[in-house]
Amino acid sequence: MMKIGIYGGTFNPPHTGHIQAARQAIQILKLDKLLLIPDRIAPHKDLPSGSPNPEQRLEMLRIGTQADPQIEVSDIELKRAGISYTYLTVESLHEQYPNAKLILLMGTDMFLSFLNWREPQRIMELATIGVFYRGEKGEKEKILAQRAVLEARGAKVELVENEILPISSTQLRRLLAFGCAGEFLPAGVGGYIEKNALYDTGADWKQLPMEQLEPIVIRLLNPNRVAHVLGCRDTAVKLARRWGADETDAARAGILHDITKALDGPLQLTLCREYGTILDEFGCKYPKTLHALTGSLVAERIFGENEAVVSAICYHTTGKADMSLLEKIIYVADYMEPCRSFPGVEKLRELAFSDIDGALKLGLELTLEHLKNLGDEVSPASRQALEFINQHS
Ligand code: FE
Ligand code: FE
Repeated sequence: MMKIGIYGGTFNPPHTGHIQAARQAIQILKLDKLLLIPDRIAPHKDLPSGSPNPEQRLEMLRIGTQADPQIEVSDIELKRAGISYTYLTVESLHEQYPNAKLILLMGTDMFLSFLNWREPQRIMELATIGVFYRGEKGEKEKILAQRAVLEARGAKVELVENEILPISSTQLRRLLAFGCAGEFLPAGVGGYIEKNALYDTGADWKQLPMEQLEPIVIRLLNPNRVAHVLGCRDTAVKLARRWGADETDAARAGILHDITKALDGPLQLTLCREYGTILDEFGCKYPKTLHALTGSLVAERIFGENEAVVSAICYHTTGKADMSLLEKIIYVADYMEPCRSFPGVEKLRELAFSDIDGALKLGLELTLEHLKNLGDEVSPASRQALEFINQHS
């Protein structure tokens, strides 16, 4: 009997994690064919510029799977009118391949919420369920429990162990904006994206006026970080006014300071690699702290910022010896902007407008204290920053 895998998703854009999962499923489940089925993205009035249309998502998948003769790309969901439910897809594939064994592939989250889908019983009648999982202990227990529940209802479930790459389409779109998605793009897909200027790959974002810069930054941030970043920008402008620094530089450094923060540790390292940056020991050990460095690189290369702005972003988490006024302002604004709340923040807010060096010193001391409590190392730059202040005050 022919075995056909069904693997749906948005594929916006397809990445190497998708291809790897598809190959893994073919091998483990001994599939004769695997259908990749891009789903419809609900038409949304403000889709970001450079978003691909459905044909382009199909085409990217076709290009990315050229080397895999068992993988076929299907437009079955893109062609269907009305809401696209999985059970409808399974029904029409069953009609098309009445004698085949269909295996519907899905990730853990989808599997655990499977009974909330439309017509789960119908899907279980017509297809086996194939679950991708990472082999982590907690995850496996949940999956086995859910498998028992579904099997009691007559489902057939197969597990596909799959080492999941640290990438998602959302993160890949960020890497594309920063010009360093290369290692996660299937062969040929990067070229197609560039040729069609998808995901803003053809855009020039250098020295944009603030009203154009702001929506781009918001799109690249995690939604839960937007208020902090805008708060930091506005606070930095106020501090610049108070202390006589350049207000435009303060605004730009403020809004860009966490521009790469949505990338996790491994992707911070990807960005450093792609930009050819040599890392110090501390950065390698604590890749999450790298967002200050990578943010400064993006500010320079993608947004065309000047040296003062780039440097203020670079030292916003650690500080350093002998900081410029703008560097101090961004460091302090990041620490005490209106979204921040921790014991001592009021004192810091007061000092920021009465004694900027005192505020910087307090911020550094609070950081050291915090890291000590966490049992984490303090970066050499923070130590040097504090030593410098203590020697010069
Ligand atoms: Fe930060
Ligand atoms: Fe921040």
